[in-house]
Amino acid sequence: MKVQALYFDGQTAADRQVSVSLDAAGLQFSGDGITTQTWRYDGLGMVERYHRAHPFRLTHTDQQGARLILSDDALAQELIARAPQLKGGFSLKGQGRTLAWVCGIAGSFMLAGYLVLQMAPQTLAFVLPDSWRERVGDQVETSLTEGAPLCTGPAGMSALSAMVARLADGNPDLPPLSVHVYNIPIMNAFAMPGERIVITGELIRRANRPEQVAGVLAHEVGHVLKRHSEAQLVRATGLQILLSVMTGGGGDTISTVASVATMLSYTREAEAEADDAGLALLERSAIDPMGLKEFFEIILAEEGKPSTGAWRKISSAIATHPGTEDRIKKIHPLPDNIAARPVMTGDQWQALKKICS
Ligand SMILES: [Zn+2]
Repeated sequence: MKVQALYFDGQTAADRQVSVSLDAAGLQFSGDGITTQTWRYDGLGMVERYHRAHPFRLTHTDQQGARLILSDDALAQELIARAPQLKGGFSLKGQGRTLAWVCGIAGSFMLAGYLVLQMAPQTLAFVLPDSWRERVGDQVETSLTEGAPLCTGPAGMSALSAMVARLADGNPDLPPLSVHVYNIPIMNAFAMPGERIVITGELIRRANRPEQVAGVLAHEVGHVLKRHSEAQLVRATGLQILLSVMTGGGGDTISTVASVATMLSYTREAEAEADDAGLALLERSAIDPMGLKEFFEIILAEEGKPSTGAWRKISSAIATHPGTEDRIKKIHPLPDNIAARPVMTGDQWQALKKICS
């Protein structure tokens, strides 16, 4: 199988069409002015987790800064079969599995109860198995987006992908993220278990420049890094979450949570943590943090307006009222020694604006 892909060498800004195939040695590609290269399977990494019909952005340990972007699902799946690290999940996998195994063997409510009592939800959030977080994240995403259309404009998705890559470039420790845009008529964004982030189409439509979207995205990545949504789940469900990890379930936990939206409305402390982590990310990526400030100001102007009926339950998750003014005050321009670099080109921004149309 030979398919077309895009290659950035990490040195020049231009992307180049290459033709990609898989063989025993690794992923091979060549193209105009690019002699055949082989990326060994074990050195492959990803910027974002693979999702069907979304561009799959790959990195390689042998070629820092280079990116290969696959848009062919069959090839992506075959590749994941050969390079299992691309399946997703990035840390504590073993520990999560051990926890599930120990719990399963013991089959004991007492052990689960002990863990819940001994470990703070924030700590417990870091030992939940990745497979479980992925499953639960999927269910939360489905429940929260309530059948709203997923926005898949190819140029828009590619621009979004470039934005995620910009954040990842300054922050090599960032886990692979799934960032999806849904055509929902309110301005909001959410972080969910399993490194998932949802942004509404309305938020992108209302933004005046890409730095505003990048600011919100960085804030949500802050929630992801701190595993706030997982911790909220632990708080909301207590023992049930451990039972559901033991039995390999997931959906049961979610359906017993009174409201997914309640689960995702964080405390002011958690919001402040996400702001701090997000601002740190923006600085390391040399992205102007004033975009986040501008976005908060847009939200502030909206507060107090009645929210749209059907989406009421998710209409206030970004701006935890009150406190937006305090959060705005914490945001300052980049220090003088860091020159802001644009998040994307003008064309990419126009494409992102149209991702839902
Ligand atoms: Zn938040």
